[in-house]
Amino acid sequence: MSHAVPGLAKAVEEIADEMRQRPDRGDVASYIPELARVDANSFGLAVVSADGSVTAAGDSDTSFSIQSISKVFTLTLALGLVGDRLWRRVGREPSGSPFNSIVQLEHERGIPRNPFINAGAIAVTDAILSGHQPREALGEILRFMQFLAHDSSIAIDESVAASEKRTGFRNIALANYMKSFGVLDNPVDYTLGVYFHHCAIAMSCRQLAMAGQFLAHSGRNPATGLSVVSAERAKRINAVMLTCGHYDGSGEFAYRVGLPGKSGVGGGILAIAPGKASIAVWSPGLDKSGNSHLGRLALESLTKRMGWSIFGA
Ligand code: GLN
Repeated sequence: MSHAVPGLAKAVEEIADEMRQRPDRGDVASYIPELARVDANSFGLAVVSADGSVTAAGDSDTSFSIQSISKVFTLTLALGLVGDRLWRRVGREPSGSPFNSIVQLEHERGIPRNPFINAGAIAVTDAILSGHQPREALGEILRFMQFLAHDSSIAIDESVAASEKRTGFRNIALANYMKSFGVLDNPVDYTLGVYFHHCAIAMSCRQLAMAGQFLAHSGRNPATGLSVVSAERAKRINAVMLTCGHYDGSGEFAYRVGLPGKSGVGGGILAIAPGKASIAVWSPGLDKSGNSHLGRLALESLTKRMGWSIFGA
């Protein structure tokens, strides 16, 4: 028996119904050709409450490419491995630039603005890779996701990884540029191989919301009692998600949704309502900043109805 949060089941059901019918769906990412094959009409929403119960609607059990949402988990792993030294090679300020921007890197001598833009996430991946073979580092990342979601079936979509590798000219440029400043320790090919593959992890909304629980509950999974990170670290990861999780759309997301969140070009968003819920939404069509268009609208509606914005009301 789950202790249902009043109004949540109704809100999730109604929001999913509304979103499935809306004609404005945004544009599915096509710069990674394999991502363009997804059905733009998909919509999924899953909420894991504090007691571990899941409230879900729509395509909440369909796997999609988590893409940049993986950066939350690689940041968590890297902080666990190297601690605050990580902040020597990556900043934590919002960029105000697109996720794959190159311009800031030159001004800032190869130190990316934050761990969620592509350059920053590549630098974080490089920190995880040090001392390992690429295959081992990738295994660590995948096992971490499986552990957090309590689901060993989570896997990498090799066709998405290969597709991104074939067309990843911009990321290759970013990585080489950082390498020229000595920001990357490992061979560029190795670091990018791990990066492309962790972006290609496929998960459903349900699995993703499960994996995010530790961020909603001071670093612990309240259902199992297992601690993943300290309360302080969870707080800081949420802070970076709030300020940087949606690239140059981060201000708008904070304004409209009011939760720490991380988007991916696969159309997913992981959002954290501290103390209350871990939420995952998926709609493949993106807005001009590369964030899920209906995903954000759904979260805006959910936080409004549930009173979950961290800013009150
Ligand atoms: N793998 C994608 C890339 O590097 C991730 C981008 C995203 O999800 N915003 O371009």
